[in-house]
Amino acid sequence: MLLDGKIILITGASRGIGQATAVQLAKEGARVIIHGRSKESLTETKNQIEHLTSYQPFEVIYDVRDESEMRFSFQQIKKQFGYLDGIVNNAGIMHEALSGMLPKESLQEMLDVNVIGVLNHIQLASRLMLKQKKGSIVNISSIIGTNGAEGSVGYSATKAAVVGISRSAAKELGERGIRVNAIAPGFINTDLTKHYEGYKKEKVLSKITMNRFGQAEEIANVIVFLMSDLSSYVTGQVIGVDGGMVI
Ligand code: NAP
Repeated sequence: MLLDGKIILITGASRGIGQATAVQLAKEGARVIIHGRSKESLTETKNQIEHLTSYQPFEVIYDVRDESEMRFSFQQIKKQFGYLDGIVNNAGIMHEALSGMLPKESLQEMLDVNVIGVLNHIQLASRLMLKQKKGSIVNISSIIGTNGAEGSVGYSATKAAVVGISRSAAKELGERGIRVNAIAPGFINTDLTKHYEGYKKEKVLSKITMNRFGQAEEIANVIVFLMSDLSSYVTGQVIGVDGGMVI
């Protein structure tokens, strides 16, 4: 298997891309640590992993905006495993609004979850990776962060920040054996995009070369590659997984 015994934390593993990623990584032999906001929210992910593998995933529970709970969870991870091989910074939110109508609270919440949350996780995770001078960090950005989209000025700012963070962290951590990459998904079938229906969906589909939304597993498969030794010389990249989308 590609990820035999690798210890990998996935944030936002309760549903969508995070859930699919946790399951795919576990199927490839990783000892996954699944993160959620409540134990109940992780039940389905946990059940899927236990059903497909003999592994019982380790769980960490906190809101990514709660730095002290996050730090406590990393202490638990250190106690349990001693180090980390990988982290997938996936937890994220999207509030859509035209630039003149974006409430400050919505922007602040996106900054706290999508930017500060990612930075805090990189700090804590890289400390656990430095010990073995090896690790892979994957941050989930978005095509809206790389290319922009109407009605997404706040969200695109946070996802563009994820690109900058990923490239800078890659430069800082490369000589210590830690690779940092970002994925920029296009439109993926999850709760985040379920409000895209009718004309709104047709408009987006017309810009996707493959003429369909992607599946969460199609993002997870690229994450498997980035977590594996197959990508041992890949760092500082932003990998588009978008069915050939042009915004
Ligand atoms: P989703 O189905 O809405 O799942 C979002 C995940 O993030 C959930 O596990 C959620 O936990 C978690 N989360 C949100 N706020 C949190 C907080 N404050 N603390 C802890 N966890 C929090 O979305 P998704 O589509 O899978 O998106 C996953 C990532 O991909 C996000 O970063 C998103 O921006 C990015 N992305 C998605 C698409 C797409 O088309 N779907 C495209 C580009 C990028 P709860 O279950 O507790 O709410």
